[in-house]
Amino acid sequence: MKALPSRAQVVIIGGGIVGASVAYHLAELGWTDVVVLEQGQLSCGTTWHAAGLVGQLRSTESMTRLIQYSTDLYARLEAETGFGTGWKQCGSVSVARTRERMTQLRRTAAQARNYGVRAEIITAAQAQELWPVMRVDDVVGGVWLPGDGKANPSDLTQALARGAQRRGVRVIERVRVTGVTVKDGVVRSVSTSEGEIEADYVVNCAGQWAKEIGRMAGVTVPLHSAEHFYVVTEQIEGVRPDLPVLRDPDGYAYFKEEVGGLVVGGFEPDAKPWGMDGIPYPFEFQLLEEDWDQFSIIMENAIHRVPALETTGVRMFYNGPESFTPDNMFLLGEAPEVRGFFVGAGFNSAGIASAGGAGRALAEWIVNGAPTSDLWPADLRRFARWADNDTWLRDRVTETLGLHYAMSWPNKELETARPLRRSPVHHLLAAAGACFGSKMGWERVNYFGTAAPYTFGRPEWQQRVNAEINACRTEAALFDQTSFGKFTLKGRDAAVALQWLCTADVDVEVGRVVYTGLLNDRGGYESDLTVTRVAHDEYLIVTGSAQSTRDFDVISKGLGEHRAVLVDVTGTYAVFSVMGPKSREILQSVSKADFSAFAVGASRLVDLGYATVRATRMTYVGELGWELYVPSEFAVTVYETLLATGLTQAGYYAIEAMRIEKGYRAWGRELGPEVTPAAAGLRFTCKKTGGYRGADRAMDDRGRHVVSIVLDDPEAHLWGGESLLRDGEPVGYVTSAAYSPTLGASVALGFVSDAAMEKAQVDVAGEMYSAQISRKAPYDPTSSRVKA
Ligand SMILES: Cc1cc2nc3c(=O)[nH]c(=O)nc-3n(C[C@H](O)[C@H](O)[C@H](O)COP(=O)(O)OP(=O)(O)OC[C@H]3O[C@@H](n4cnc5c(N)ncnc54)[C@H](O)[C@@H]3O)c2cc1C
Repeated sequence: MKALPSRAQVVIIGGGIVGASVAYHLAELGWTDVVVLEQGQLSCGTTWHAAGLVGQLRSTESMTRLIQYSTDLYARLEAETGFGTGWKQCGSVSVARTRERMTQLRRTAAQARNYGVRAEIITAAQAQELWPVMRVDDVVGGVWLPGDGKANPSDLTQALARGAQRRGVRVIERVRVTGVTVKDGVVRSVSTSEGEIEADYVVNCAGQWAKEIGRMAGVTVPLHSAEHFYVVTEQIEGVRPDLPVLRDPDGYAYFKEEVGGLVVGGFEPDAKPWGMDGIPYPFEFQLLEEDWDQFSIIMENAIHRVPALETTGVRMFYNGPESFTPDNMFLLGEAPEVRGFFVGAGFNSAGIASAGGAGRALAEWIVNGAPTSDLWPADLRRFARWADNDTWLRDRVTETLGLHYAMSWPNKELETARPLRRSPVHHLLAAAGACFGSKMGWERVNYFGTAAPYTFGRPEWQQRVNAEINACRTEAALFDQTSFGKFTLKGRDAAVALQWLCTADVDVEVGRVVYTGLLNDRGGYESDLTVTRVAHDEYLIVTGSAQSTRDFDVISKGLGEHRAVLVDVTGTYAVFSVMGPKSREILQSVSKADFSAFAVGASRLVDLGYATVRATRMTYVGELGWELYVPSEFAVTVYETLLATGLTQAGYYAIEAMRIEKGYRAWGRELGPEVTPAAAGLRFTCKKTGGYRGADRAMDDRGRHVVSIVLDDPEAHLWGGESLLRDGEPVGYVTSAAYSPTLGASVALGFVSDAAMEKAQVDVAGEMYSAQISRKAPYDPTSSRVKA
């Protein structure tokens, strides 16, 4: 028997690179009563056979910064711990075979510079100078990231573990966790092959086993394994140790120098799931069988790019399983189901690059009781119980593995494992020709019309969306917004509890809806949502589809000892919105209720055709409008009644463009945990008297300001993520964008550092366009700027 402690403050399950990094960072923060349990030996799971590429660039600022930190840490770890890590800052070159890929690289490079990552656009000839053994006759150009690197994953894990052990952390190998005890919603202990350990915190860093460990605690950890491959070749002339990493995403392949030969790996578009019946035990330092058929698409493209491979022998074929998530982002944070149970898993073949930053982020979250930066893209709470379905996960990961090298088209939709969640009127929407997208598992209408090819320019669907916008701005349109997250909060203390959680005054009379922020202790947005008082002791809370799990978690934790019960009623109601200047008369035509006496923010039960629904006067598009909350069993009847009025149906692309025209902020874009109401220009949604969570810091803008942006050139198209410059220097970036038929130009929201800024240049894939900047929304129904 191993000598296990009977209790520890923190138990980390899994001694891969992620578990080791969490332990290292907890110790660095002064938490040393920490035990790492590994069923085999350190790094024996997936970590040992990783290729060791460390690429810094990610699609969001926070995730890029997280990996930037990994590179800083890996560069100093050897000196600090005395253990070699194999870290080498060799840089990386990515090449493009098509004009579209080059546009993507240009956009990426502009973003990189915004986030402080060095990135240079290079010609094919320059790419070849950096990487002489490749052919470039079909290369359009590339990008050079000098700060990227490579490392030895097993050595890194050892170095992190030793660093933690030096400060007092215990790493115990050959102990298998077999159960997790949860009591009253709080984690209490883990059972192991060698006995039980009580713990205040349990951190699930079990790699591809993390789903099973999650299930032991009743926690959803949505990941599935897929086979993942690379080969190591014999030596090749001209391949020297300082060769950068090369990525050829159009050929699905990457290349890294190793002992004078190449590691050749990649991300095929149609991946091969593995482990459908669970992950075998033991599975230590183990590989799967070679599968040259599956690897052939990568190998053929690799030979095309590096012709010397045709005549070079392969020393080793690695087929190792790795876990992938439904959206290709890892899973981090405290489980919403169980307090004290944290997850750091599902690293989608980027665990070596991410481990440094992810380990630090998770350690800070544990120690501080909350994340210290915006981790939303990786937040475990972007999923819910529905994602814990093996069949769904298996089908989805066939697609997610390939996303690494797939084109990052704007508005790209995943295609596999759909449909999943459907509105009760889905069949009516489909019959009307809806083109669906998906969010939080829901099928949602993007627009009505046939699917169009992806593009960085103006899309073919724009005309359809323009027509929907014009219908809404001039008459009225009907939107299905059933995917909204919906909760009821009921109980004696419901109003008191919400008053503390909400920035706005929600202690309003029954029948009023209030738009409000929910802040964290740092004054940043945890969410923005609406609350409707439906009874003296009951509220209906409505939030965006994507953040519903997160909001439920934030609100339920924020209730404290108050007597009120929060229930998720998302599936109980459909939501139909009727928006536009003629919405009142249209609704009046199918109801006996008096819509002329409906004040802004009023909410009450009305008859609609044969049904009774909750009508709430509010708008997210800047027009007169009502949201109708319809019990699911009446949804079809009500939708048919509304359709019979001749209303134009419209989708989410139209909503998005109209809310940007009107300057309405969206959570996850303009609003996030680092953005205060002052920065967002939403002071007016905050109680002047304070008394809400985060109030003491909510009025500090921290040098960031949300602004509206209108491009001068009517032809250029913005998608979001573009840099804003003044005199060639970055001064901000675009967070949301759309084409506005109302203004006849691309319109956007974004952050700038100078609130008084009136003009800026926008970097659209390397071309500069002038833009007007304003803290005021460019669209106002009464404004003379409106062209339509
Ligand atoms: C072929 C291939 C190439 C890759 N190349 C790269 C790359 O170039 N760059 C990059 O960044 N990433 C790469 N990766 C991904 C990277 O290897 C993983 O993301 C990373 O190793 C995940 O680390 P982890 O700590 O989460 O998981 P693991 O290393 O799998 O660690 C989890 C540990 O938990 C232990 N465990 C599980 N269950 C229990 C239990 N019940 N009790 C106790 N212990 C338990 C396991 O034994 C295991 O050691 C690659 C992956 C593959 C397969």
